[in-house]
Amino acid sequence: PTRIFSGIQPSGGLTLGNYLGALKRFVEKQEEGIETIYCMVDMHAITVWQDPEKLRQQTREGAAAFIAAGIDPARSILFNQSQVTAHVELGWIFNCIARMGWMSRMTQFKDKAGKNSENVSLGLFAYPSLMAADILAYKATHVPVGEDQKQHLELTRDIAIKFNNDYGVTFFPVVEPVIEGAATRVMSLRDGTKKMSKSDPSDQSRINLTDDADTIAKKIRKAKTDPEPLPDTLDGLKDRPEARNLVNIYAALAGHSVEQVIRDYAGAQFGTFKPALADLAVAKLEPITLEMNRLMQDPAEIDRILGQGAARADAIARPIVDQVYDIIGMIRSR
Ligand code: ATP
Ligand code: MG
Repeated sequence: PTRIFSGIQPSGGLTLGNYLGALKRFVEKQEEGIETIYCMVDMHAITVWQDPEKLRQQTREGAAAFIAAGIDPARSILFNQSQVTAHVELGWIFNCIARMGWMSRMTQFKDKAGKNSENVSLGLFAYPSLMAADILAYKATHVPVGEDQKQHLELTRDIAIKFNNDYGVTFFPVVEPVIEGAATRVMSLRDGTKKMSKSDPSDQSRINLTDDADTIAKKIRKAKTDPEPLPDTLDGLKDRPEARNLVNIYAALAGHSVEQVIRDYAGAQFGTFKPALADLAVAKLEPITLEMNRLMQDPAEIDRILGQGAARADAIARPIVDQVYDIIGMIRSR
């Protein structure tokens, strides 16, 4: 049976990258009638220090974004990670399965740690093993993510395989990454070689789901581009990362193929294309922003939804993690 799991960190406000690479596709999976489990991964967020009050606010805001984008908490399970302790329990066990060498090759760690890796948290290094636990605590089979998470999902497969081998069991499934659509890697608006991220220090680099129409239009108008008009073939976007990025974003928002967008805007200047993109972005994002703001008026209701989701998530994960304790030889006599 197919079971979907995915998460988003409350490490800041959600971006257009999170929306196109993750959230929008989470909703599509829900609509396919597959079992879907979605999580605000607050334990991952604290791998980088978070102000406690902001963390709470960002967790609620993320949950509001899920619901505003179309996640129905009655059909999908929606919760925050720290309310289901199975994640950290299995995360520790996976710390003992994963190898230092595997973790050292993770490019997200290298990017986030930068040159100063002596001074980042141990949790940031172990992040991918907790992510494997998030997924495997549910024996999820499919994980919709953006392109940047591909390497972590390969590590999740390695952990599942090594666990099964080490204990001579066929217990954990080997998960399939689901990386699809025109915008699996939305780039920064300031630098076409860098991923758009909610934790990027520059607010100009990203579109936030909380940005108003004017801000969105301004950020797109100021987005870095080259001086050439749009090409008339897909090939013409090669070596033009900024142009390629804006075309990808347009395609993903419009629900068109990239080829279609190139046909429609062949030879267009950015002076024409950018306002069209801004209008499209506002048309697609504004209803979500408005609904998010409405939901944020009632934080207690959001907390209630997260709590109910957590109880349902726990009912799935608890027995799985209890079986893991048996497999590895822990006495369970309480
Ligand atoms: P942070 O900078 O704190 O890591 P983030 O913006 O990378 O934040 P995450 O919470 O790490 O967001 O990732 C949540 C989901 O969004 C993941 O599935 C990830 O692959 C996807 N995602 C993140 N950034 C992008 C992007 N620029 N384009 C497409 N998908 C993205
Ligand atoms: Mg990230």
